[in-house]
Amino acid sequence: MGIKLQPKYCACGCGGFCKGKWIPGHDQRLRAAIENEVGGLVELRRIVEERLHRSIEFDQTDTRKHWYSN
Ligand SMILES: [Zn+2]
Repeated sequence: MGIKLQPKYCACGCGGFCKGKWIPGHDQRLRAAIENEVGGLVELRRIVEERLHRSIEFDQTDTRKHWYSN
């Protein structure tokens, strides 16, 4: 009856077991596969925003600072 971590199926669907949500590297593998399927991260963003009916918000402060500092 201990609180033991049960091995779980990897979230990517490969059928492998892992302690966390992913077998190390499989989250990146899935992300790359999704990006490849839809035609890139920009296209993926467009699809998700279409589905959400809103823009995906994220912190662009550092980027702006970087691009416009010189
Ligand atoms: Zn996996």
